[in-house]
Amino acid sequence: MTTQATHRQPLTASRQPQAPSLKPWLTAAAAVLLGPTAAAWAATGLAEVPSPGGFIGIGRVVLVLVAVTPWLLFCQWLDKDVARLRKMNREMWNSIVLGGGVVGLILWILLPWKTAGMFAAGFGLWLVVTVGVGGSYVFVRNSMVDAPSRVFTPRHIKAWFAGLGKKGKKDGVPSLAIERVKITGPDKKRVAVPSDPNQTAAYEAAQNLLFDALWRRATDVEMLVAGENVRMAYRIDGVVMPRSDLLPREVAGPAVDFLKGIAGLSVEERRKPQKGTISGVIPGGPSGETKIEVLTSGTTQHERLALKIVGDENRLRMADLGVTKQQREAIDGFVKAPGGLVLVSGPRGSGVTTTLYAALRCHDAFMQNLLTLEQVPLMELENITQNLYDSTKHEGSYARQLQTVLRREPDVVMVSDCMDRETAHLAVTAARGGKKIYMGVQAKDSFDALKRVLSLASDTDSVAEALLGVTSQRLLRKLCVACRIAYKPDPQVLKKANLPLDKIEHFFRMPRPEEYVDEKGNPRVCANCQNSGYYGRTGIFEVLVMNDSVREQIRAGQPVNAIRASARKSGMLYLQEIGVQKVIEGATSMAEMLRAIRDEEAKPGQ
Ligand SMILES: [Zn+2]
Repeated sequence: MTTQATHRQPLTASRQPQAPSLKPWLTAAAAVLLGPTAAAWAATGLAEVPSPGGFIGIGRVVLVLVAVTPWLLFCQWLDKDVARLRKMNREMWNSIVLGGGVVGLILWILLPWKTAGMFAAGFGLWLVVTVGVGGSYVFVRNSMVDAPSRVFTPRHIKAWFAGLGKKGKKDGVPSLAIERVKITGPDKKRVAVPSDPNQTAAYEAAQNLLFDALWRRATDVEMLVAGENVRMAYRIDGVVMPRSDLLPREVAGPAVDFLKGIAGLSVEERRKPQKGTISGVIPGGPSGETKIEVLTSGTTQHERLALKIVGDENRLRMADLGVTKQQREAIDGFVKAPGGLVLVSGPRGSGVTTTLYAALRCHDAFMQNLLTLEQVPLMELENITQNLYDSTKHEGSYARQLQTVLRREPDVVMVSDCMDRETAHLAVTAARGGKKIYMGVQAKDSFDALKRVLSLASDTDSVAEALLGVTSQRLLRKLCVACRIAYKPDPQVLKKANLPLDKIEHFFRMPRPEEYVDEKGNPRVCANCQNSGYYGRTGIFEVLVMNDSVREQIRAGQPVNAIRASARKSGMLYLQEIGVQKVIEGATSMAEMLRAIRDEEAKPGQ
């Protein structure tokens, strides 16, 4: 305040032509601006006739430097901020703000500093120019980000001051962050433990999350950060499990930001969907390096982070899927047939794509031309040309794209979806023409799938001729062999399920939470399944094989129930029966089998 008053004073004083009248304020100004020595110097009369440059004392140079330093710091912050935002032209904004400051500084320096008034005016001019350009940057960048990411707002300034105290406390404390998961960024470079102590909490939270998710074999992680709350869930062996207690709210946000940063996403973009890929491995852990997709999006209310952890399950071959010996022989028959249509069905999330991939792997990718048309590829397939259909892009319909794929002289085509009439018609026609078509159909069982394709293709003769068979499937979690518990099943249940009472000694089930204790009664964690009770999954299948009588029924347009009866006569087993076999074998529990048969659809995060 004193300085300001001193600056204002000369403006009025300078209107007076008499030089001597300047002396008192000059003395005062010199005392404030330049210190007691200069004040004495001004008082002695030297200041009465100032020569050019006479006022460029060391004190003023210091004042200029003091004024320029915050601006240089601002420029430094701006450069980092633009780079982090990835939304604005970095060079342009750097040159505007840097250039503006330099122009202001030149104006200030060029003004004759004969009087303190001119010096103050120069400062004012410089201030207007730098605050103007700096402010316009802040205005533009704030308009591009959501409220919590805006800077120089009262909220931001408050948070900044609050942060200053904490920063002081942290100083001198070495970073205690431990690397539990070795993380590799999209640039294939190892993500190092941050040296900045302000990053430690975010790094540790991100490490905790990745370690926990990998250790528990989660395939999906969903996190919603909304206001003061964090909601989180994992999908493990296909089943959604809440995990909201892992990260406290105050570290969840920074953890999301940290993961976005290392995946190469814009940290400040909290709404538009973004996607990046990192990979992680627990040193000494059971699985190797795992690809992790980092997906973010949001609304005004919340920010969402999803991690897709791409495990080995998608790489399965037909023999590992869980088909019975008899079913395997039937599928071998489909593979060896010179051409024809195979429908691979199941509800969403039942592993149909994995089965379609496994079917393709039965073919020799070097001898045959293998193509796919997919909407959501699970993974890259070696030596197989995968064509992606994206309904959001206007590249013609799915059927039109299938037509293009079929023109490339394929031997085997995987068609991920039986989308519409045209798709069904094209697939049936190509199969009759000698191509092998594996087509995914969303349906609850094989008869349901057959019904759907028959109604879409409408030409029953062509379907009867082209079709080789229909599979349907579910995924079951396998009981953890380290902790499953045997029990004698209720005879009533066996009777109801039409099972032989005398042949079944026991079923298995997962332990109840209170049963996870050691001999002394202390809680224990199963090293194999982390107390989830299950480890890995297996498929259960039913396979409808076309034979002459079924073909005849299709041609005659008989109802699906009639086809079901004749398939049964030729020895077909239904999904539930295969499921019960798995329970009898001890591979899974009755509860899990019933869940899998019943569950039509399971989505993560719900
Ligand atoms: Zn276990």
